[in-house]
Amino acid sequence: MSDDLGLPVSCECGYINFRTPSSKPLGMAHCHCTSCRKQSASAFGTSVHFPADQVFPLPAELEQKLSVFTHLTDSGNTKHCYFCPKCGVRIMNAAILPDGSRRYAVSFKGGAIDSGVVWATPAKHIFTRSAVMKLPDEWETYETIPPPPAKDKK
Ligand SMILES: [Zn+2]
Ligand SMILES: [Zn+2]
Repeated sequence: MSDDLGLPVSCECGYINFRTPSSKPLGMAHCHCTSCRKQSASAFGTSVHFPADQVFPLPAELEQKLSVFTHLTDSGNTKHCYFCPKCGVRIMNAAILPDGSRRYAVSFKGGAIDSGVVWATPAKHIFTRSAVMKLPDEWETYETIPPPPAKDKK
């Protein structure tokens, strides 16, 4: 665990530069919802999930550098969207649930992570009901989100 230095994260201009809490993401999803399309300014957004309790509290120096855009989501969560104030690149999204607790996972934007480890993580395509592109048949797709995982591990 202590040997794990995490994966490098950076924005386009390089002002934001840090590492993920570990090199083992919880998972990854390519999301085709309107919000992800806009935030990525591309056909879909790629989210790589890490445990929130490993990401927060942010180191003070990083917190000072990042800008935050906050909005309410359809599910009633308050989403904190962290981005580089110089080049505007979205770095990660974290959510506060309606009860005030922090959502268990933070979504790092896949393209901000400079490591092939990310792209070797099996990924689903979610919210394909709002996809703006034709999706290849071999992709694992879900109209919205996948059903809850089977309880095969504790
Ligand atoms: Zn930047
Ligand atoms: Zn989305």
